[in-house]
Amino acid sequence: MSITRRTFLKDAGLLIGLLGLQPVALAEVAEALELLATGRAPVLWLQGQACSGCSVSLLNSESPSPADLLTRYLSLYFHQTLAAATGVAAQGCLEQALKEERRILVVEGAVPAGMPHACMLGEESFNDLLLRSARGAQAVVNVGSCACFGGIPGGEENQTGAVGVSSFLKGKKVQTPQFSLPGCPVHPAWIVGTLMQLVRGGSLPTDELGRPRAFYGGLLHDQCPFFAKYQVQEFARHPGDKGCLFKLGCQGPITHADCSLRGWNGGVNWCVRAGGVCVGCARPEFAQHKNYPFYRFNEGETEGSSS
Ligand code: SF4
Ligand code: SF4
Repeated sequence: MSITRRTFLKDAGLLIGLLGLQPVALAEVAEALELLATGRAPVLWLQGQACSGCSVSLLNSESPSPADLLTRYLSLYFHQTLAAATGVAAQGCLEQALKEERRILVVEGAVPAGMPHACMLGEESFNDLLLRSARGAQAVVNVGSCACFGGIPGGEENQTGAVGVSSFLKGKKVQTPQFSLPGCPVHPAWIVGTLMQLVRGGSLPTDELGRPRAFYGGLLHDQCPFFAKYQVQEFARHPGDKGCLFKLGCQGPITHADCSLRGWNGGVNWCVRAGGVCVGCARPEFAQHKNYPFYRFNEGETEGSSS
């Protein structure tokens, strides 16, 4: 598909809004899009212990649209779920991607460190393939809480010894730069924004867990529309009540993510605005413990709790 400079600039304008960049970055972002579109920034996407929810989330991207993202910008050399090829042909694509020196490796899902045969691609364990793919890559981008911290597959008493990618690669002494984008699922803007920044060579400051500060720098609680209610302690006591949802178990005060600013589904809504608590899906501790109620009710105020 031929793309004009004008299209690059138009989409770059959309991305600048997404990334919160200054308009002066327009030309650079357009150039990054051109690099992606011409296949000079190949993306290899591997899935370990995952539900594919983060891939589905990527397909909900607004700017660029899913069609633009897949057909114009991401040189997706390999993706287990989206690939049309299967069997030997798919493995050929994978090996081709591994020859690309500027490849960006995106990983979705946890690593079954204690049971490698739990996740196989052909005759090779996901663990070995991950090592081969990460070594020599330009960067590793861990998408979703499973890839970042183990997530649901890494919950207490899991049988596969599931861990996050960073922890696994650190144990194997892989030095490739890594970025972690937790969330269950990850927000499409966090993936697209990170890939664009990597391709354009822009700075992407991260915290000690490798999370880009542009997306995870603040507590979503601080920008919540109910923050004023929290301060004066006007709390909802039952689902559907008006007021701050803290007493129902909202984890906004301890969750670093920009959901309350960015919104989901094109900014239309997000968990708290929709009447649900923030369950802290972007936290490292998400789903790590057996008794992990999403909602909490104060004793004597309701008949029970659900998870
Ligand atoms: S609803 Fe949650 S995020 Fe919003 S102010 Fe209350 S505790 Fe904070
Ligand atoms: S508001 Fe909380 S639970 Fe909802 S997507 Fe954001 S971090 Fe996850």
